[in-house]
Amino acid sequence: MKQILKGHIVHAPVLGALEITENGYLVLQDGIIEGIYPQLPPQHRDGEMHDYGDKLIMQSFADMHLHAPQYPMLGMGMDLPLLDWLNTYTFAVESRFADTDFARDVYRRLARELISNGTTRVCMFSSLHTDATWVLMEELEKAGVTGFVGKVNMDRNGKEGVLQETTEESVRETLRWLEGCHFDHIHPILTPRFTPSCSDELMAELGKIKAQYGLYVQSHLSENKAEIAWVRELHPDCERYWETYHKYGLWADHTVMAHCVHSDEAERRAMREHNVLVAHCGDSNINVSSGICPVRKMLDEGLWVALGSDIAGGAQLPMYRVITTTIRASKVRQIMDDWHTPFLTVPEGYYLGTTAGHRYFGAGDGFAAGDTLHAIVVDDSDFPTPVRPLSINERFERAIYLMEQRSIAAVWSAGRCVVGC
Ligand SMILES: [Zn+2]
Repeated sequence: MKQILKGHIVHAPVLGALEITENGYLVLQDGIIEGIYPQLPPQHRDGEMHDYGDKLIMQSFADMHLHAPQYPMLGMGMDLPLLDWLNTYTFAVESRFADTDFARDVYRRLARELISNGTTRVCMFSSLHTDATWVLMEELEKAGVTGFVGKVNMDRNGKEGVLQETTEESVRETLRWLEGCHFDHIHPILTPRFTPSCSDELMAELGKIKAQYGLYVQSHLSENKAEIAWVRELHPDCERYWETYHKYGLWADHTVMAHCVHSDEAERRAMREHNVLVAHCGDSNINVSSGICPVRKMLDEGLWVALGSDIAGGAQLPMYRVITTTIRASKVRQIMDDWHTPFLTVPEGYYLGTTAGHRYFGAGDGFAAGDTLHAIVVDDSDFPTPVRPLSINERFERAIYLMEQRSIAAVWSAGRCVVGC
C-alpha cells in the first residue's frame, strides 16, 4: 500500500545538521520510506494522501533508558542521592508489580503517555517480575511503542522478601520470561540491574544466556562516585566498573550502558572499541546530583551516545523535554569547563534524541529510504505569535523547546499511523 505524508519535513541525518524539505512529500510503500520529494513524482500520485498542511513532519523520539515500574513515583524523592533514593522509594514501588492487575493499569497509562508524546522506540527496564514484564510488553505493543524491554535481574542488595530473587530464581525466571516473549514489535533484552545488584554467579549465568539466545544487554555504569566505590569493593580484581560486565561476556556490541557520567578515558575507550551505546540521561543526572556528563568529549572521541529519560530518576517522560534538558546540561558543562567545551546545539540535541537512538534498532540516518517510518507531526499554530514569519528552521527550534503532548497531531510508528489517524 502506498501512502504519502505532505508537510514541512525536518530530519537529522548527521549530528548537527538538519535536512528540511518545505512543503515536501514523504512517500511510504507498505510503511517503508521510499523517498522525500519537493514535488510529488507522477508515479506516486496514486498513493493515499495524508496532507498535514503547514505542520512539521519530524522524526519521532527514541528513549534509550527508562524504568517502567518507576512511573508511579515520577517526581518523588528528588532531594535524595542515588543510593538513598533507591532504598527509600524505588524498591518499595517496584515491589508492587508482583500484582499483574496493578501492573496492567500502570503500564497501560505509561504506554499511552509515551506514544502520545512521540516516543516510538524504547530500551526499557521492567521490574524483576516475569508476569508483569509480559504485561508491560503487551501494553507497549498495543499502544504502538516498539523496541526492547528487560526483566530485571537482582539477587543481592535489593530488599529481601520484597524485591530480590535468589540466584537460582533469577536464572529460572529469566528463561521462563524469554520463552514467553512472542511479540511483533517488542523484544527482550538482558537486564542485570547494575553490578551491586547481581552476584558473580548470576552475572556468569546471564553471560551464558546472552550467548545462547543472542540477546543484547542493558545496565548502568559509573553513574555516581559512591556507586563506583561500592563496585570497586565488590570486584577488587577489576580496575574499572566496565570490567565487571566484560568479565562475564556482558560488555559487547549494542550493550546499552546508562549514564557513564564518571567514566574515565580508558572506560570510554572500551565503549568505543566494543560499540557500546551510552544512554545519556541528563535530567536524571542533575536530579539525583550525579554530575554533568561530558557528552561533547564523548562525541569527539567517536562514542555512540543517545538519550534516555531515565524516569523516575529523571522526572520528564517526553523526550522533547529531555532534549532541551540535555542541551542545558551541556551549557552547564561548558561553564564548568571554563568555556572550553562547546555546548550541544538544538540540531545536535535532536539528533541524539532521534537518529542516534533509532540506529540501535537497525535504522539508517534520519528518514532514510528503506527504513520503516517513525515520525511525529507537530502543530505549532498555538505557540506565541511571532512578530515576523519564521523559517522552518526557526519553527523546528521552537517546536523542540515549546511542544507539548497536545502539539503532537499524529504519530507514526513502525510504518503505521498510531496516533491522530
Ligand atoms: Zn536507570
